[in-house]
Amino acid sequence: MQQHTAEVEGVRVDLRHWIGGERVASERTFADISPIDETELGQVAAGGAAEVDAAVAAARAAFPAWAGLPVSERCDILRRVADGIEARIEDLSLVETRDNGSLIRSHRRGVMPRVAMNFRAFADFAEKQLGHPDMEVPGRGHRERITYDPAGVVAIITPWNAPLMLATWRIGPALAAGNTVVVKPPEWAPLTASLLADIMAEAGVPAGVFNVVQGTGAEAGAPLTAHPDINRLAFTGSVPTAGVISKAAAENIVPLSYELGGKSPLVVFEDADLDLAVEIAVEQFDNAGQVCLKAARMLVHSSLVDEFTERVVAKAATLRQGDPRDAETDVSALISRRAFEQVSGFVERAIADGARPLLGGGPNADLGGLYFSPTVLVDAALDSEVMTEEVFGPVVTITPFETEEEAVRIANDTRFGLAATLVTGDRDRAERVSSALNAGTVWVNCFFVRDLEAPFGGNGRSGIGREGGIWSFDFYTDIKNSVFSPTGWKED
Ligand code: NAD
Repeated sequence: MQQHTAEVEGVRVDLRHWIGGERVASERTFADISPIDETELGQVAAGGAAEVDAAVAAARAAFPAWAGLPVSERCDILRRVADGIEARIEDLSLVETRDNGSLIRSHRRGVMPRVAMNFRAFADFAEKQLGHPDMEVPGRGHRERITYDPAGVVAIITPWNAPLMLATWRIGPALAAGNTVVVKPPEWAPLTASLLADIMAEAGVPAGVFNVVQGTGAEAGAPLTAHPDINRLAFTGSVPTAGVISKAAAENIVPLSYELGGKSPLVVFEDADLDLAVEIAVEQFDNAGQVCLKAARMLVHSSLVDEFTERVVAKAATLRQGDPRDAETDVSALISRRAFEQVSGFVERAIADGARPLLGGGPNADLGGLYFSPTVLVDAALDSEVMTEEVFGPVVTITPFETEEEAVRIANDTRFGLAATLVTGDRDRAERVSSALNAGTVWVNCFFVRDLEAPFGGNGRSGIGREGGIWSFDFYTDIKNSVFSPTGWKED
């Protein structure tokens, strides 16, 4: 008998798909492994083309009624979803932590409240932003009415490093705009998407409006991206996967939005507040460095580099590594054995290429398992692998520079362009350098803060498109201009 539910940290989680308002099993399953101790949490339904077809059909069938609801009614339902998330923050935090190894304290304090905001805020924005004021053709008297029509069925594919946050950041605006959704959660951390389906149902989201197909990328993701009846494809994940799915989306001429990897710089100028710079540097070990926005390349003015390095190493050495369910833990494990081997390989090759570890440099021998020690590398060559490729783990490099021009040149010398952070006490320099940096987001004397109404996305290999506020609705709607002539009316 196949197991349909699992108890995870005392929370009951359904392991089946959620299609057309019902739980649906598959003949096959895959093991969901916790990175904390590599134990199996359950056998999750492994969907394929048949489940994807059913989910897209359910979403298509539900679309006209959902799109036809007055925006305020739709948004009220989404606010109830936000209420449901807020009521279950503890359950969601416990399950996400067990499933992907991220810190329970981050979930309770920041991540899960933000997940609720992904519904509440986009419901508010939809009411405000989807009603564009009419325009007029200059000198002609024609009225132009701009409307944001929902696009249809939105396919959403997400990664494991912040599964519920990254999924809902797409689901919230897609639903608020009047679309229906099919989500394929990451096979490494699929559980909170299933809890979200429960919350959606309790909040009164009609059957078929929100669907979840579990499964691997190759078996469930690929048929979803190639499905001829999807209207948008929102993907968050790695560059190689984006390359593969682009071909499928191109075949069907489906507009896509990609949020991909990064190799972001942290630039510390000679006039920087050093305490702040060190604090931001040590934040880069959050989520064991498995963060797309991580400022992995630290570029520090030569006058400060020794003191900065010493202080970063000393502070990072005090980080507590261990079980993320413990609220005192600062750094947890890597997501999978494969990820662990990839990160180990990057660091071994970096050291063989001449980089020197001043902290860490390998697995945490005391903890074993998938725990890789926070690692600070110096002397890495600018064109070496560790300086140019994304290392999705707790690994940073520190490199000195002499001039502002050199700092900008090194910072921009990457095929990625997701984010950049600079620390400086000089306002003119802050304006100048933030303009010169090639990145979708630039943080000045801060890190990892952003209003949901602001645009987010990456340049180059870090992505295609922008989401957030009106930019989300630009993507999730078909924008129409109806031009009304002043003449030709019966009453004329
Ligand atoms: P991944 O590309 O391996 O997987 C992402 C998703 O794609 C998963 O759900 C997976 O099942 C699916 N997938 C894999 N192959 C597929 C295929 N052939 N067809 C359709 N779907 C397929 O990425 P990952 O390892 O889960 O995530 C880490 C990556 O995500 C990193 O590069 C990170 O930088 C990036 N990321 C980017 C952002 C951002 O906002 N820019 C946020 C988080 C993570």
